[in-house]
Amino acid sequence: MNFLCDFHLHSCLSPCGSLDSSPAALARAAKAAGLDAIALTDHNSALNAPAFAAGCRREGLRALCGLEICTAEEIHALALFETPEAALGFGAYLYDHLPDFRNVPEKLGDQIVVDEHDAILEQVDRYLGNATDILFSQLPGLVAAHGGLFIPAHIDRAASGVLSRLGALPPESGPILEVTRHRLRDMQETYGPTHTLVTFSDAHHLADIGRAATFIDADDFTLPALRAALLARRATPLVRA
Ligand SMILES: [Zn+2]
Ligand SMILES: [Zn+2]
Repeated sequence: MNFLCDFHLHSCLSPCGSLDSSPAALARAAKAAGLDAIALTDHNSALNAPAFAAGCRREGLRALCGLEICTAEEIHALALFETPEAALGFGAYLYDHLPDFRNVPEKLGDQIVVDEHDAILEQVDRYLGNATDILFSQLPGLVAAHGGLFIPAHIDRAASGVLSRLGALPPESGPILEVTRHRLRDMQETYGPTHTLVTFSDAHHLADIGRAATFIDADDFTLPALRAALLARRATPLVRA
């Protein structure tokens, strides 16, 4: 089955995410954008994963629950899990690796946990936008130990992509790379022969969902099947205006 996937989305839990982007609203917008499958990847936290999974179920969408980790070198990477519980488990581990720095919502943005009906459950106290103390080289093993799929995020981005932060692509990056829609073509020329490239929207606002997505031709919508499809390079990036 060929699933049109956008596996990099931020909700109102991300300090830089729009307040309109509740997990339920993300699911509705993804459905309207014609996506088959989406993943929630808030910065360093998965606390909105249960509401997201419920919202996707309601819309008839396939869903993964993930996080976007910021490493000690300030490199962003995606960790995708099959269940909210697995994502929450990894998030709990990650929370202890974030500096104990209190969020200042007026300056840094709100970090809101909601239920599937948009009722506010809590505001996260610790600022989620900071770098963890986990090195990029440690992360693939940690994600795998928690049962997740590791994908370095927007590798071509100047501020937080692995290429600019480390100056090169280290072997720990693994075989699957996310690139931005802006540089899809030249990244394909450079890394296409050796890696599987995917592109996702990295939407922080509802209107951006699905602006970049990737068709993944997987036998089934399970993490092992998606991983197998990606390793077999059955992935076709799609960029929309
Ligand atoms: Zn990022
Ligand atoms: Zn992001």
